[in-house]
Amino acid sequence: MSFEGFPCVVGWELTLACNLRCRHCASAAGLPRKNELTTEEALALCDQFPPLAVQEVDFTGGEPLMRPDWWRIAARVKELGITTRIVTNGLPLAPSTVARIREVGISTVGVSLDGLEATHDDIRVLPGLWRRVLAGIQRAVDGGVQVGVITAVNARNLRELPALLGLLESIGVRHWQLQPNLPRGRSGEAPDLALSDQEFLELGAFFRTEQPKAKARGFDIVPADSLGYFTELDLPEPPWRGCHAGLFAVGILSDGKVKGCLTMPDEMIEGDLRQDDLWDIWFRDGAFAYTRQFSVDKMGANCRDCALAEQCRGGCTSMSYVCTDKLHNDPYCFLGIQKRNPQAFQTAISMAFPEERDSVMLSDPLPPSPCWTCAPWAGFAGRVHGS
Ligand code: SF4
Ligand code: SF4
Repeated sequence: MSFEGFPCVVGWELTLACNLRCRHCASAAGLPRKNELTTEEALALCDQFPPLAVQEVDFTGGEPLMRPDWWRIAARVKELGITTRIVTNGLPLAPSTVARIREVGISTVGVSLDGLEATHDDIRVLPGLWRRVLAGIQRAVDGGVQVGVITAVNARNLRELPALLGLLESIGVRHWQLQPNLPRGRSGEAPDLALSDQEFLELGAFFRTEQPKAKARGFDIVPADSLGYFTELDLPEPPWRGCHAGLFAVGILSDGKVKGCLTMPDEMIEGDLRQDDLWDIWFRDGAFAYTRQFSVDKMGANCRDCALAEQCRGGCTSMSYVCTDKLHNDPYCFLGIQKRNPQAFQTAISMAFPEERDSVMLSDPLPPSPCWTCAPWAGFAGRVHGS
C-alpha cells in the first residue's frame, strides 16, 4: 500500500532532561535519554524536513530549553522557512532566554501552568515555582513573544479553571490550550489526578461555556486532540476527524527514534533516524498502520458501534491505548460517555447551557475538510497536539 501524505507538523523532543519532576509528567522526564542526538546530528536532521513538506516544528522535552544548543537547532529550522514553536515549563524564561527566543524567530512559546499557586506547585513539586513561571510569562509577553499557556487538566485543578482564565487574561496572555490528563508516565501512578467521567464532562462544559465568550474578548481557548468529541460540549468547527499521527504529523524523540506522535508509548516506535532517513521511515510500507490502515472493524468496544466511528476513528490514539491497551477505543469521549452515562452527560449540558433542557447531538457525519492538521499549533486556528 503506498502512502502519499507528508508530515506537515513535526513534534521534536529535544531532550528528555528536565529541571523539574512533575507528578503528572506523561514522559516521566528528568534525565536525558542515554544517547541523545548530537548537535551535528540534530542540525543535519533539520535539512531532511523541506523535502517532506514540513511546515511546522514544535520543540518539546523534557525541558527543551535545557539543551544548550536548542537555539542553534531552532534557528536552523527557521532558516529553512519552517515555523517553529517551543513548549517550556517556564522556569528557564530568563531575560536572556526570552531575547534569544525572539532572535531565532520562534513563533510561539507554550508555557505550562497547571492551576493556581498551591495546586501548580504541588503538582510540579517545587514550592515557589508558580510565581517564577508567572514572572517568566510576563517577561515573554512584555518582550513581544507570543505566549500560549498550556494546562493539563486533572481532578486537582479542574475547579480552578475559571480563576485561571481571569488571571491569564489579566497578564496579557491570549491563547490557552486545555488538555485532559494523560495517565501515562508519572501521571499513571497518580490516581488523585485522574479525571472521572463526570469531571471530564465538567471540563467539556467549562470549555463550551467559556470558549465563545473568551473568543469575543479576543482570547482563544483551544482544545487539545484528546478533548472531545462531538455533542454540544465540543465545537463543530473545525470538525474532529481523528488522530493525524502518521498521516500529517510525526514525532521525533531526542535519541532519534520516530513515532507518529510524541504522546505515544515506546512500543509504537516506527524507526530510528540513526539508521534511516525520515523520508524512508515515513514512506516505509506498513508504517503507521494504526492510522493509515484504519478500518472500523479494528475499533474497540467503546467505539465500535458509534454512529461517528468512520469519521472519528476512535478518538486520540494515545489516550485510547494508554487507558485501555487498545487502539481506536478512547474512553474519554463526550459522545461515548453520553451513551454509557446519560445522567452525567445531561448534568454537564445543564452546566454548559443552563437555559436549554435537552442536548442536541451531532447526528450526521460532517463533510470532508482540507488538511486541518496543519492549522497552527497552540491553537491559533484549530485542534492541536496533546503535549
Ligand atoms: S465513541 Fe469512539 S468513535 Fe465515537 S465519537 Fe467517541 S471516540 Fe469517536
Ligand atoms: S495527541 Fe492523540 S489524537 Fe493527537 S496526534 Fe497524538 S495520538 Fe493522535
